[in-house]
Amino acid sequence: MKDDNEMFCPGVTRRNFIKTCVAATAMMGLPFSMHTKVAEAVEKNGNPSVIWLHFQECTGCSESLLRSTHPTISSLILDMISLDYHETLMAGAGAQAEKALHDSMQANAGKYLLVVEGAIPTKQSGIFCKVSGKTALESLQHAAEGAAAIICIGTCASYGGIQAAAPNPTGAVGVRDIVKDKPIINIPGCPPSPYNFLSTVMYYLTFKKVPELDDLGRPKFAYGRKIHEHCERRPHFDAGRFAQAYGHPTHAQGYCLYKLGCKGPATYANCSVQRFNDVGAWPVSIGHPCIGCTQPDILFQKAIAEKVQIHEPTPFDSYAPVDLKEKGKGPDPLTTGFVGLAAGAALGAGAMLAKKLPNGENSQGGDDEKAE
Ligand code: SF4
Repeated sequence: MKDDNEMFCPGVTRRNFIKTCVAATAMMGLPFSMHTKVAEAVEKNGNPSVIWLHFQECTGCSESLLRSTHPTISSLILDMISLDYHETLMAGAGAQAEKALHDSMQANAGKYLLVVEGAIPTKQSGIFCKVSGKTALESLQHAAEGAAAIICIGTCASYGGIQAAAPNPTGAVGVRDIVKDKPIINIPGCPPSPYNFLSTVMYYLTFKKVPELDDLGRPKFAYGRKIHEHCERRPHFDAGRFAQAYGHPTHAQGYCLYKLGCKGPATYANCSVQRFNDVGAWPVSIGHPCIGCTQPDILFQKAIAEKVQIHEPTPFDSYAPVDLKEKGKGPDPLTTGFVGLAAGAALGAGAMLAKKLPNGENSQGGDDEKAE
């Protein structure tokens, strides 16, 4: 039996490897017992050849993956795969790097994973982005031919990102607008969670197929629910307490950021659950509204301060509600419930109004106006 402290790969003990497999298994929505199968699959089927191409982007997706505060994620990813070509990380350059790319594509034809970071310009035959004399369009089409599957890391590769924002001078698009005959998995985010990339690779190694995707090509296990459903500020949203401005006491008190433009109610992602970099931080937790970076219809389409329409209010299920009956100022919960039910039925505004106070005030002096 292997020792817990035995190293799975440099910087990762076996214990940490198993813990990561358990976390990834939970993220994929698989039963707990499946973590052993995931671990076995990674050990047995690991090291698939990966070709990682950079096009119109800021390298933030690679940076996010590599700068995780805990070494496990980046170490695991780099150990789980055979990274044959990555312009930022590889030591070689010029003709040497091009040879590595060519050799890997030939030796692993039909089997390698192609990871794309960045959008692809298409106007004027794609001259706006060239590497080694070839346009991004040519490089993508060539590399896609021999790929088993394509993973688009980040919103730019998935949907075009900021490069595709109006007026989109270079005609930037995402991979799925160009490649039509390969399985494509989109891992959007600006940057995306490294865990979502890791879990997708683990799923692929375990089941030898792409995970179930939504209509935007995203794995449902990571993008199946709205951020708003698990947000720690959701009790304030339900209670009608909103931050009024950056730096205002209502902001410092952790009130809901909806009125500052939070796109959480319309954004599908797991940031409010999985968070980033093992320190429990994500934009909303540190006071910045969600900008909807996983949604092609929101990111760079709507201003940061612009409020999104709330359709199909989803139930909140992670945190206890805030106590509105502080120091006898608020109504009792039963009264609140009846008032809320009546208001909700009349206005169809869902759970937020269910706890709105009848006198227009709240127990801590915050803004308790309607969300919309
Ligand atoms: S609107 Fe934003 S800050 Fe408010 S509860 Fe929803 S996700 Fe959280």
